[in-house]
Amino acid sequence: MSAVHASSDGLGGRLAKLGRLLGISEAQNELAGAPAQPARDVGNAHMRREVERRRTLYDDVGTFLFAHDLDLTPLNFGLALDYITGNDLAIEKAVRAILSDKGRLSNSIAEQIIAEQRAEEMTPDTLGVMLDEMEANLHQLTGIAERSTSNAKDFGAALQQQAAELTKDDAGGDAIGKLVALTRGMIEKTREVEARMREGQKQTRLLQKNLETARKAAEQDHLTGLPNRRAFENALRDEVQAARENGEPLSIAFCDIDHFKHINDQHGHDAGDRVLKFVAGLLARISGDKAHVARHGGEEFVILFRGLALSDAARIVDDARADMAERNLVDRKTGERMDQVTFSGGVADVFAYSEPRDALKAADRALYLAKEHGRNRVYIASEASEE
Ligand code: GH3
Ligand code: MG
Ligand code: MG
Repeated sequence: MSAVHASSDGLGGRLAKLGRLLGISEAQNELAGAPAQPARDVGNAHMRREVERRRTLYDDVGTFLFAHDLDLTPLNFGLALDYITGNDLAIEKAVRAILSDKGRLSNSIAEQIIAEQRAEEMTPDTLGVMLDEMEANLHQLTGIAERSTSNAKDFGAALQQQAAELTKDDAGGDAIGKLVALTRGMIEKTREVEARMREGQKQTRLLQKNLETARKAAEQDHLTGLPNRRAFENALRDEVQAARENGEPLSIAFCDIDHFKHINDQHGHDAGDRVLKFVAGLLARISGDKAHVARHGGEEFVILFRGLALSDAARIVDDARADMAERNLVDRKTGERMDQVTFSGGVADVFAYSEPRDALKAADRALYLAKEHGRNRVYIASEASEE
């Protein structure tokens, strides 16, 4: 889409033009550009306030776009609106981060933010939801097909029985003979329908199997091969239930690579990716029936331990931390030696909190404290240190 550049009109004129370009109605345009009309039938104070609110919002959007010299494109307009209204939290957060970091936006950064949000829209989560819906539909379809098949079978059996009885009682009458032939024809047709339905069911099952494969792919992180956040969330639900049923403890740990941005900056993004894979491999060794390791996002991993006391879970994480800290990684591509790669961790007892979500927050907070206190360490969340 081509960018719409500002003309030499005044701000009001440009906004009015932008309004037209964006398909905003004349009425709204007037609100933005022209002086307020003494409307005959708008005597209502509430409506006036609403009009005023929208007018201010429109002005703010325009001011924002011009302040950052952003092209007048619908996407930039949407971004400004999302930021100012805070309607889209992710956009709002991304813009705020850039503004506090760089002081201003540019067209390319705005484009990047929008592109990232778009990419976010098609996360494994979204894909997973889609798969769930498709699967539910298929399930329903299979049910219908199965019911239809059994109806068809009943029908076929009844006809067959009737035909048999007719042949028995028949004293050679032609009408009955025809009826028998007709009935046999119907039975044949029923069989054909049945066969087609069976074929349909077979295809549906195949589709279901493919969906299952797609679901597995949607739950795996492409870079590290570890389960992703979506898979972890499912595991958490299952493990909470299993631990409750068996009266076992359940701990959760967050691990985050220290100064990973620096590793990327120093050795490049690809080397960063290889470090991520390495740490993932090291942590994956903790995995087992009762320990689930997943990539939670970026350079952050999450581990669930069932059947281990909190201190034992923390010790395992700390052993992995010490193991990592002792290694001297070399960038295979360049042969360059890397600075020590470390990670920090925060561990919490899931059942020490009323909601698993709160335990996640507590582990995250412990991780934050481990970072604050120098990194390359694992902290246990204690309820007393909360607040
Ligand atoms: P801290 O010790 O406080 O955790 O610092 P940090 O630099 O690790 O944390 P920060 O959140 O500032 O930076 C994380 C970086 O991780 C930024 C981002 O570009 C990078 N990153 C996230 N995902 C990937 C990835 O898949 N590959 C690579 N190479 N880098 C990634
Ligand atoms: Mg980090
Ligand atoms: Mg991080």
